[in-house]
Amino acid sequence: MKHFNKNIIDLYRKVLQVKTCPWCGSEHFIKHAKYHYTYRYKCKSCNRTFLPSTGTCIHYIHKKVQFYDYANVLKNEGLLSLSTMCKKFDIAPLTSFDWRHKLIMSIPRNDKFLGNEVIGYNLQFNFSRKGRKGILNPLSSIKAKGLLTDEKYKSQVFSLSNSKELVSKLVTVGEVKLQDIERTIAKNICLTKNLSFNQEIHGLTEFAKKKRFNLIDTTKKSLDNKKNIFKNNFSSLNLEFKVLINKIKKGVATKYLPLYCNYFVTFYSKKFSPFAKKIINQKFTWAFYTLTEQFYKEFILNYTEMNYAKPTKRKWKTSNKYYFKKEMFPY
Ligand SMILES: [Zn+2]
Repeated sequence: MKHFNKNIIDLYRKVLQVKTCPWCGSEHFIKHAKYHYTYRYKCKSCNRTFLPSTGTCIHYIHKKVQFYDYANVLKNEGLLSLSTMCKKFDIAPLTSFDWRHKLIMSIPRNDKFLGNEVIGYNLQFNFSRKGRKGILNPLSSIKAKGLLTDEKYKSQVFSLSNSKELVSKLVTVGEVKLQDIERTIAKNICLTKNLSFNQEIHGLTEFAKKKRFNLIDTTKKSLDNKKNIFKNNFSSLNLEFKVLINKIKKGVATKYLPLYCNYFVTFYSKKFSPFAKKIINQKFTWAFYTLTEQFYKEFILNYTEMNYAKPTKRKWKTSNKYYFKKEMFPY
C-alpha cells in the first residue's frame, strides 16, 4: 500500500483517536468494518460512517507519506517558500498551499488566561487580498493616494505574552474598537492586573477602564530592568514575525493571517507539533478549511470597514455537515 508507511500506520493505530462522531458529535458509535490498518466506524445517532482521520488535517490527503514529511519540515525548519516545498515533495503549488493551511489550521485558538502580568505588542500588516482573482491590488490605488500609512488599511495583530505562553491574534482591520478586544483577546487578559503595551490603542484603553487594570504604555513609561529585557526580547520576536511575513512570504492575505499568527507563536515556543495527539485529533480542521472563505466574509462584513469582494470559487460538498464549534476558528 503505497499511501501507508510505518509513520502513517503508527499514526492511525496509536495517535488518531475516536471519541465522538465527527459528523454530529455523538458518543454512540460502533466498529463498522476493517479499513487498511484501522477501522471504519458507524455512528448510531446519525448513521454515517467515518475513519479515525475524518475531519483532521490528513482527511482527503492522498499522498499521506509526503504529507507527513511535509509537516515535519514545517515543524523543524519553519516556513520555507512554496516553490522550495513543491520541489522537495514533487507537488503542485496549490497542493503545497493547501497542505500548509490544513496543517496550521489544526492549531486550536488559544483563549487561555495569561495571568496578572502580561506584555503586549501591536503588529500592523497591510490589508491584503492576495490570491483573489479579478481584484486589482487594493494597495496600488492606496499607494497612489499616499494613504499606505493610513491605519484604516492595516490588519491589526495583537501578540501577548506572560513570558511562558505566547498568543497572537488578528484583532480587526483598521481602527481597534472595544468590541474587537472583547471578541478576540478578552479571555487572555480578562483578570490581568498589569498590561504593558507598545502602542496607545483606543479600544484597549476602554477595555482596561472597564476591567480596571493598569495599561502601561511602554513607549512613555520605563519599566524595571527585568521587565525591560523581556519587553525588548518580545519586541524583537514580533519584528521577526513581521519580517517573515513581509519579506519571505511577500505578504500574506489577511484571510490567512490569523492562521500564520497561530503558527508563528507555536513555532517560536517550540510547540508546533502537527502529529501530537491534541493537534492531529482536532476534527474541526476539514470543516474550517472548507469554510474559511465564509468565516472570512463574516469577519470582513461584521467587524471591519473593508469591502468584501471577489470570493474565491472553490467549493466542497460536505462543508456544512461537520460538527464543530465556530468559536475555535481564529477570527
Ligand atoms: Zn454521528
